[in-house]
Amino acid sequence: MAEPIPIRRRRTLQMRVGDVLIGGSAPVVVQSMTNTDTADAAATARQVLELAGAGSELVRITINNAEAALAVEDIRKRLDQAGCTVPLVGDFHYNGHKLLSRYPACAQTLDKYRINPGNVGHGDRRDSQFRQMIEQACLHHKPVRIGVNWGSLDQTLLARKLDDNAALVQPKTLSQVTREALVESALTSAEFAIQEGLPREAVILSCKVSKVQDLVAVYRDLAERTDLPLHLGLTEAGMGDKGIVSSTAALSILLQQGIGDTIRISLTPEPGGSRTREVTVAQEILQGLGIRSFTPQVTACPGCGRTSSDFFQHLASDVQQHLKRKMVLWRTQYPGVETLSVAVMGCVVNGPGESRHANIGISLPGSGENPVAPVYEDGEKTVTLRGDRIAAQFIERVENYVARRFSSVENGPAADPLSGSDPDETGAIRDEDRCEKDDPDESVSHPLEDQRGVRTTEPKAV
Ligand code: SF4
Repeated sequence: MAEPIPIRRRRTLQMRVGDVLIGGSAPVVVQSMTNTDTADAAATARQVLELAGAGSELVRITINNAEAALAVEDIRKRLDQAGCTVPLVGDFHYNGHKLLSRYPACAQTLDKYRINPGNVGHGDRRDSQFRQMIEQACLHHKPVRIGVNWGSLDQTLLARKLDDNAALVQPKTLSQVTREALVESALTSAEFAIQEGLPREAVILSCKVSKVQDLVAVYRDLAERTDLPLHLGLTEAGMGDKGIVSSTAALSILLQQGIGDTIRISLTPEPGGSRTREVTVAQEILQGLGIRSFTPQVTACPGCGRTSSDFFQHLASDVQQHLKRKMVLWRTQYPGVETLSVAVMGCVVNGPGESRHANIGISLPGSGENPVAPVYEDGEKTVTLRGDRIAAQFIERVENYVARRFSSVENGPAADPLSGSDPDETGAIRDEDRCEKDDPDESVSHPLEDQRGVRTTEPKAV
């Protein structure tokens, strides 16, 4: 039997952005970007707080005019007052050289600058304007992302490469030439910045495109040609399912190959939808690949004809929501709780097996059977729940499991800031919901298991 392929991170230099390390031995960092008018300091600080609260470890803000540059200090102050230390990255296009030199408080307050070499100026002014931005980065000791983008590729460079290509006996496709131009733009711009005095450890690269296979090809090339850390993301990924699936496909391929030191998911929010979705998706990708753990995972089967009532969907959803709410407290009180795995399965076909693989799992009986549901903890069947309170009873067992398994001696038992609230709101368990450990005489056997919890009949495949 083949073993899972271990992910070996590509060796890179390490950079520091505020208090966050990127590249080297640092974990892959999740970042995001606001969509507020940066000049509106209150609204921008609010959204940065939301993104940071969702788990964004860096937040980028647009610096497109004097008002935005002037607001940066105010935004930082508001974040500091809220106890939020998330580093701020300034996104500059066209006029970054002017804004950084005219507004030193902005230049000093930001923790990193994003420079798009395709948008720093044209012709003779390109190099001098790029140089001015690098001078500011050196002056204020700030790292820089050289962020090349398919949609704003340096047209002079592309035209030169197309001319060279046309002279070849076997010319490459436009797509190939464009990909090469993207990589060349990033690498030559980085070398330019380093020659201008920026330390190598203060440079990170990105080459964003909007198609999955192009992104994979570009980053594989980039990874072979530099030891600088790489910021990974599919640009203009789109809305909803399409954006999530495309980003996941592209980033998973690269991350599996050890490529990528920080990621951003460029989702177009649904009207009225939360900006934090892109943070959650980034975390889910990293957690799904086993690269990082952020929050307990609920393994739930998709349900089928055996789960004709919606009880199963409600239970899976209730457990997921409960874990999410409790993580605010658990994250500080129970070190390692983010690695918890919980299984919520619809019936006995795969339920007991999947539940045993989780830290704690429950297998419902499917439809048309008695409402009895065995619970497994660390692979052993511990109790069978029944009746109308299965969901509440199972959540109580999850709570107890977490307190038992993840309590550290120093921390002692966790105080619950939600206690005293409406139990229906908090998910707390009422006395009448409590269940006792199974009495073997009373327990209701699972249809396919004997009293030891051993499956006695092979289920049909699903
Ligand atoms: S057979 Fe059972 S475990 Fe499989 S999907 Fe259907 S309900 Fe879930």
